[in-house]
Formats: sequence, structure tokens, C-alpha cells
Amino acid sequence: MMNKRYLVALDQGTTSSRAVVFTLEGHMIAAAAQEFPQHYPHPGWVEHDPADILYTQIEALRAAVRKAEIAPEEIAAVGITNQRETAFLWERETGQCLYNAIVWQCRRTAPIIEELTQKGYGDTIREKTGLVPDAYFSGSKIKWMLDEMNLRGRARKGEICFGTVDSFLAWHLVEGHPHVTDATNAGRTMLFNLHTQEWDEELLAMLDIPREILPRVVDTAQVIGFLREDLLGAKIPVAALVGDQHAALFGQACFEEGMVKNTYGTGCFMLMNAGETFRLSRCGLLTTMAWRLNGKPTYAFEGSVFVGGAAIQWLRDEMKLIQTAAESEAVAASVPDTGGVYLVPAFTGLGAPYWNMYTRGTLVGMTRGTGRAHIVRAALESIAFQSRDLFSAMAQDCGKHSPALRVDGGASANQLLMQFQADLLGVPVQRPAVLETTALGAALLSGLAVGIYPDLKATAAGWHVADTFAPRMEEARREELLTGWRRAVDGALHWAESNK
Ligand code: ADP
Repeated sequence: MMNKRYLVALDQGTTSSRAVVFTLEGHMIAAAAQEFPQHYPHPGWVEHDPADILYTQIEALRAAVRKAEIAPEEIAAVGITNQRETAFLWERETGQCLYNAIVWQCRRTAPIIEELTQKGYGDTIREKTGLVPDAYFSGSKIKWMLDEMNLRGRARKGEICFGTVDSFLAWHLVEGHPHVTDATNAGRTMLFNLHTQEWDEELLAMLDIPREILPRVVDTAQVIGFLREDLLGAKIPVAALVGDQHAALFGQACFEEGMVKNTYGTGCFMLMNAGETFRLSRCGLLTTMAWRLNGKPTYAFEGSVFVGGAAIQWLRDEMKLIQTAAESEAVAASVPDTGGVYLVPAFTGLGAPYWNMYTRGTLVGMTRGTGRAHIVRAALESIAFQSRDLFSAMAQDCGKHSPALRVDGGASANQLLMQFQADLLGVPVQRPAVLETTALGAALLSGLAVGIYPDLKATAAGWHVADTFAPRMEEARREELLTGWRRAVDGALHWAESNK
């Protein structure tokens, strides 16, 4: 154990494959990334070529280790984290994929979901999986591929494997081709029963999916085998598989019930540690597993903002109000407030807690004096308002207010946004030193599995706050702003009603 000084995370994302080398104390020492092409064979369809995923992930791993200038023998463990829900089918005999990976964003299976909902499966799905019926999740994608290629006969004979990205990578990168997935990834298929912690017969029958294709479900931190020796030339345990948002919650050290993290990317992903009891949300959030350790699940509430950083891209690319995303901060800071302007960037509808797919973007409250800076500021503030709505929904469902919000993602670099977020929440916003929380979470989980850390809490030594944004807005002003935001959202919802 003496010479084991590093942990490596493979972070297989939607647009790139990354690898990050950390010290056991959680300091990042090197990272490498490789982008790969997206395929859009029809409007609304999204696919990845499995060979691209594998190749870019291996290249990123080798590049990161090279950059870190460490000996592969010094790596204590590798953890894999991944874009969730994306589905692969391959032949057990040859490992050959039978179709491109169908990506989580792909909408091709919306009609399958529509049918399930009409047949009244909505409540069953919710109660068993914590999810709402949606084409995002793997289940309907598997059904579609089995139907399309007429594979059920072969599937029943055990000739075919299904996997999410973690399973696919484990199969190809771990000695002996294990066919496994971890509980957090299994929980995103719409086939996994969170209560029994097993694949669910009724849900499998609902989509006519033969059980024989499914991977064995392992804990989030568990040694599943050794990294193929030809990859780095050393025998290194692969010791964690974990969905990306779950890894980020872990990497943010949200180990206590009620703790919340928010990732500000293209969209925003907020997760709250919801403790050890399964509960359904009354506010339109998903229930999911935070992680499963020693067979015991910890649950989480999850909500997402569809248009987060994307609102800033819209200012830049469509409205041409700014030239770079970072410029939004200086432009917004040139005015003290939006002068009563609110942007509801419901370009693709609104998610939790509103759930209205017909709503569209709305800009309200303009006067003759409204200018570019007010609109830029309103766009930035809209990210914070939407996140605040999720934060409140979580507090309501959990019965507990998080003492702080831990943040990461590209747009968390924006100081004005973070300060405004703290002002709206009335609790501090904490930005950690390592913003690669997804990779950090996977690395720490792998360290936990191989015994580097005695327990969960010990991994948190790797988490440090770099910046804290304390709330400093007067209560009355906050209420005024929240009232304005609620009115703007009501306007957008009302517009959707009258426009149906
Ligand atoms: P993703 O992982 O979804 O690709 P990132 O975490 O890389 O997203 O964040 C990119 C998003 O953050 C983009 O939508 C961009 O507009 C936004 N963004 C990046 N920097 C800033 C900034 N300084 N201020 C506001 N938004 C920003």
C-alpha cells in the first residue's frame, strides 16, 4: 500500500471523455479530455458510436497518466463515472455492439412512453423507481432496439448484453469482461426497483425486456476487477462505478441528509441527500439513489433546470448581446438591478416544480429605459431563480433546509450569479477548490472501496471550500424579487394555457 499515492477517475460525458488523476488527499494533479462526434440521424435523435466512446476514454486515461508523470503502479484504484441512461446492446460472445449507443437526450422513444402512460403505468413506475415515465431513461431505448433488430429470441438465449456507459466501459476495460452496473446507474433504467434493489419483473414485462440481457448490479464503491493490463501496464483495481450527478454529490461531500449541490452547466442539476428512507416528492422532483454502499442505498432528490448556462449562450449566439459567456458578469454588474425585468427562459418548457412542456420563454417588465445590461442581468438572475425554486422544493420534500448550497459547473465561475444565488436562498453558497467534483467523487469512491479511507467521512478530507458567498440581501428585497419572479412564471404558464 505504501507506494499507492493516486486515484484516477474516468469521466465519460456526453460530449467528451475525460480522465483525472488525484492525490489521496483529493488534489487534482492532471487531467486530459477527448471530444467525440455526436450523431443526429433524424430530428430529435441522438447517438454515439461505441468505438468513439471507448477509444477517447482510453486515450484520455493514457494522456492524464502521462501528464501526471506518475508510475501506473502508484495508482491505488480507478473509478468510472458516466453520462447516465445512454443505452448499449452488444453480443456476449464477441463484445460487438449491435447498434450505436442511444443517448439520454434522444427523443425517439417518446411514443413508447406515451403508450405506457396511457395504459396507466405512471404510478407504478413512480412508486417502484422514483422516476417519472420519460424517454430519457434507458428502458424504452432498450425496447426500441430489441424491436428494431428483432432480437428477443437471441436475448432470451443469453446471447445479448445490455449496459449503460459504466457497464460498457467495465466490460471493455476490466480483465475478464464483467457484465455489471452499479445501483445508481441501474436506478436510471426505469427497470430497477429501489425498494427491493433488484430488477423488477413487472417493469421488465411492461417493456418486454428479457432478464437475461441485464447486468449484475453492484455497489457504487466495490472492486469489480482489475484494469486490463495492456492499458497502463499495471494491475490496478477498478473500484467504483457511479452516475455523474451522483458522483458530483459525493465529490461535494454531501454526506448528511438535507445537504444539496447544484451543477451550473448548460442545464443545472441539483441533488439533495435524502437519507436512508425512500420518499416520493410532492413537488415534482425525482427520487434516485445518491449511492449504494455495502448493499445499503442512500437516497437523493433530483431536479433539473433545462435552460441554465444555455440562457447565456442564447444571449451570446442568438441575441448577440455579449461576445463571451464570461462577459455576462461585467455587463450585468454595470447596472444595480434589472429595473424590474424578468426573463423566464422556458425555451423548452419548465421542469420541476412546474412541469409544463408547453410554456415558452417570456421577457416581462420592460420600460422605455430598459437596456442591454438589464436583459443580460435578467438572464443571469433567471438561472438563480430557477435553482431557488428547486432548492425550496427539496426543502419542502425533505422537511429540512440545507445549511448551504455547494456549487460547481462552468457557470459557477460567475461571481455575480453566485452572490445573487446566496441572496435569493438566504444561505451561503460554497464553491470548492476542486471544481471537478464529478471526477473527484468517482475517485474518492474507488479509494473507499480499496480501503484507503476508513469510512465515508474520511473521504471528505479531500473537499475544501475555496469561496463562500454569504447572503447579504435584505429580506424585504428578496421577497420583492421572488414575487416578481413568481408573477413572471405565472405569466409564462398562463400564456401556455391560452396557447394550447
Ligand atoms: P456542460 O457540462 O453542460 O457542457 P459546463 O459546466 O462546461 O457545461 O458550463 C458551460 C455553460 O456555462 C455554458 O452554458 C455557458 O454559457 C455557461 N458559462 C460559462 N462561463 C460562464 C460565466 N462566466 N458566466 C455565466 N455563464 C457561464
